[in-house]
Amino acid sequence: MREHLSMAELGASAIGGPVRELADGVRMPMLGLGVWQLAEGRETEQAVEWALEAGYRHIDTATYYRNERSVGAALRRSGIPREQVFVTTKWLPIRRNPTSEIQRSLERLGLEYLDLYLVHWPLPGRISRGWREFEALQQRGLARAIGVSNFGRDRLARLLGTVDRPPAVNQIHFSPLNFRPQILTYCAEHGIVVEAYSPLERGRAFGNPVIAEIARRLKRTEAQVILRWAIQHDTVVIPKSARQDRIRENAQIFDFELSPQDMNALDTLDRTSGNTQGHSADAPGSS
Ligand code: NAP
Repeated sequence: MREHLSMAELGASAIGGPVRELADGVRMPMLGLGVWQLAEGRETEQAVEWALEAGYRHIDTATYYRNERSVGAALRRSGIPREQVFVTTKWLPIRRNPTSEIQRSLERLGLEYLDLYLVHWPLPGRISRGWREFEALQQRGLARAIGVSNFGRDRLARLLGTVDRPPAVNQIHFSPLNFRPQILTYCAEHGIVVEAYSPLERGRAFGNPVIAEIARRLKRTEAQVILRWAIQHDTVVIPKSARQDRIRENAQIFDFELSPQDMNALDTLDRTSGNTQGHSADAPGSS
């Protein structure tokens, strides 16, 4: 695992910000807007519009969030060419097969292809359910990249043992309080990009004295410090906000750098005690 990314490695903060190249060559912007718990309709459309205005070029939704139609409406209204925005949605593994489900998602989004299609969470005892279909969907060009979410190290290992094409991405709960260095290392060793969900701990990390002190000293907000920490761990971040000021604030993370000392101090906040699951007890991957 690489320790910390330098500014040079992250590249200039062009529109959409720096990207991670996935195993199959697809370029994924390191900052995206998460839209879980944004209501279908005006709330989702407005947040996506604000994000695109602020330079985001990556939106993370899911069938489960019931707002794919609004994401699609905002994308169309923006007039930004399709190929310039990275769109992820997720297959509900308790539903029918991914081949029919992706068609429904694409229809709701009004898109012809996805940039990333994820298995939303592993089904106990049926880890690789749907993966063969995922591989076929990628081959047909309906999803440029395919991946998983909420897979811990052991489940990933089991999946890798049975499939032709490994997932390009594992989207997991990841923040200074849920650091999970073992999964990070495992994914890096297998060429899997880690995508950090709930990177702001849904607000619960704010006020932590270590985070607050770094933010004060660097004249940044606590949200920016937390997101920057995840970026320097080479992960993709998808903070959610319904507010324009916060959507903008969360994008201002590519013009400063945390020192190795500050990175270490934030690393020590991990409270997962070696837990190698992809989610924590209070976030059982059910978003
Ligand atoms: P999060 O992004 O960690 O936190 C969102 C919360 O923080 C909201 O309450 C938001 O409030 C607040 N917030 C955002 N920016 C802020 C700022 N700058 N200052 C203060 N408060 C701020 O939580 P999340 O929504 O759970 O995770 C992000 C995305 O990850 C989701 O939207 C979803 O796309 C994805 N996700 C995936 C899974 C999965 O199972 N794969 C699970 C959870 C999440 P306001 O909206 O009021 O600003």
